[in-house]
Amino acid sequence: MRRTPDRIRPTLVAVAAALALLVACTTDAADRRGGRDGLRPGSVDLADPYVPGAGNGGYDVSHYRLAVRYDPANDRLTGRAKVVATAVHGLSRFTLDLAGLDVAAVTMGGARAEHRRDGDELVVTPRHGLPQGRQFAVEVDYSGVPTAKADGQLGTGGFLHTADGAIALGQPWSAATWFPVNDHPSDKATYDIEVTVPDGLAALSNGVPGERTSADGWTTWRWAERAPMASYLTTLVIGAYRVQTGTHAGKPMVTAVPARLPATGPEDASLARTGEIADFLASRFGPYPFDAYGGVVVTDDRVGYALETQSRPVYGPGFFRNGRPNPGVVAHELAHQWFGNSVTLTRWSDIWLNEGFASYAEWLWEEHDGGRTAQRTFELEYAATDWSRPVVDPGRSGLFGTAVYKRGALTVHALRRTVGDDAFFRILRTWTAERRGGNATTEDLVILAERVSGKSLRQLFDAWLVGDSAPALP
Ligand SMILES: [Zn+2]
Repeated sequence: MRRTPDRIRPTLVAVAAALALLVACTTDAADRRGGRDGLRPGSVDLADPYVPGAGNGGYDVSHYRLAVRYDPANDRLTGRAKVVATAVHGLSRFTLDLAGLDVAAVTMGGARAEHRRDGDELVVTPRHGLPQGRQFAVEVDYSGVPTAKADGQLGTGGFLHTADGAIALGQPWSAATWFPVNDHPSDKATYDIEVTVPDGLAALSNGVPGERTSADGWTTWRWAERAPMASYLTTLVIGAYRVQTGTHAGKPMVTAVPARLPATGPEDASLARTGEIADFLASRFGPYPFDAYGGVVVTDDRVGYALETQSRPVYGPGFFRNGRPNPGVVAHELAHQWFGNSVTLTRWSDIWLNEGFASYAEWLWEEHDGGRTAQRTFELEYAATDWSRPVVDPGRSGLFGTAVYKRGALTVHALRRTVGDDAFFRILRTWTAERRGGNATTEDLVILAERVSGKSLRQLFDAWLVGDSAPALP
């Protein structure tokens, strides 16, 4: 994610109040989810304090098959979701995250399963308990008027009704506002997404485009994401768009810009750089990790950021207001395809593994594009950094704070200066190859960097990531 530069960040709640809230939420979540029925746990709290209550560690989803119909005229969404998963623990019941929306039926193996709602969760009780290791499929029929999820610290994420359609987008959450999901990045899965909208509107999502069909005034758009995807990287953009479909490096490239914007504007010019920038990043980070490329520009002012939704980032309007193309933000969101999307954090406290590297990619791109060198940017940012703010575990209100981005990027460059260019880029390429499609932690990166470089690097990472004074320049 990158916030729109001219946007004022939401008011931050005082740290003490935030901590009190966190403790309260965590305790509450544990009470609700902790399996106090004396049997096998009904669900297993992931206990990620950045997103209390989200996700469920009791099962592992492998695939989502989503079929949704959305009518902008009445803002009504009707959906059927099939979730294929494996029980990690023995489960007598389990939960899916689902915010708002009414559930008509839940079926498992063709039979109705008991279900009830508990806040933003759907609690499903199968007829028979699920033993550890059992694969199961659950189908949920649901409908309603979707709403975004507001959070004082993290901002608003999720389903937004727009003038001509809708946008489902947000980090760290959004998915649960339009489909039932294990809404935590530690459980990645593949997706088939089918979206039916009135004829004449586009329905964009992640991955490779499939067959588009029309019947009775409605058009169904199909998308397939075959690489594991974290739920916060899903998106849905519905409306009047100019959709361009082509290929790049033998893979589909789908870009979209609101139809009312002139085709000669900075939005189209920026998206047109997508292939070139992805190729540049691939030359540094290793092969592009997904089966499709693209990008979507939206004009809704509520989207005050760009988000690296998998294979097809979504860019808010603020990046193009000065009328000039913005390849920097494209470089940032495309870098996330490696750092964040293919190699995904396990806990939100490691957000710098996403943002530090994506910010560093902007430095690399600027140098490549004839601008300031990465070394010069490093020197300027080093001088301007507030070292009292840690990069790892920055606190919930600091999830998208400056430290995560700038100090994160400083850390990446400090690693490069310490091990040298050859070892540095081998570390990056080894990281993206060995962890491709999976999850990772800061500790994993330190271990890998030490192995590849043959150097002891723990002190370096500690000083640059969490030390409270300016580290010595390497
Ligand atoms: Zn980012």
